[in-house]
Amino acid sequence: MAYNIAVDGPAGAGKSTIAKAVAERLGCIYVDTGAMYRAMALYMLREKVDLQDRAAIAGACTGADIKIGFEDGVQAVYLNGENVNAFLRTEEVGNAASVTSVVPEVRKRLVELQQLLAAESDCIMDGRDIGTCVLPKAQTKIYLTASSMVRAKRRYDELTAKGENCDLGKIKADIEERDYRDMHREISPLKQAEDAVLVDSSDMTIEEVIERILELAKR
Ligand code: C5P
Repeated sequence: MAYNIAVDGPAGAGKSTIAKAVAERLGCIYVDTGAMYRAMALYMLREKVDLQDRAAIAGACTGADIKIGFEDGVQAVYLNGENVNAFLRTEEVGNAASVTSVVPEVRKRLVELQQLLAAESDCIMDGRDIGTCVLPKAQTKIYLTASSMVRAKRRYDELTAKGENCDLGKIKADIEERDYRDMHREISPLKQAEDAVLVDSSDMTIEEVIERILELAKR
């Protein structure tokens, strides 16, 4: 049976940075499920689907064939055959992903793909519903969080380092709006699984968080 580590938590908690590093040290794959929801959102944006219209999103999602590949251990997301990694990490796509991911048809397609990957390979998988819904039997479950101010500041630093012009207050407001939507949606809302270990990274360095997760996984 494959060994699975589930990492859930709100936007900007550092899940992907941490999960990537843990995967490297354990020699397993890292599955970024947010990137799959982002690829689906990119498809909706490109097709100009009305994001206020759930039925339209549900109807359109069957046109998006999403596949995952690994190149030198790095996840590549393919949308209808095109590697779309370069288009996924914008605020526009992230916010659209939070809107389109409330639609059951979208979740069903992506959860099936995630469960298949986790059954085949040892992995660390991050998202919002991994410990509660996608991999309820994961051997290690982590709920990684940080205050919304700390998360907004990290995102702000990341964007300004890339030369993007941005506003800290707006980023914090977007993060809080996204948290609210992710935590209050009907299916698979973001919440800590009963058997997940809470790690609050507000006052921790990246290395401290990595060490903590490795220690939990070794138990
Ligand atoms: O983690 P990331 O910011 O890339 O995720 C983008 C959006 O995709 C989240 O705000 C959330 O709405 C959605 N998502 C989800 N379930 C997951 C992963 C992401 O609903 N497992």
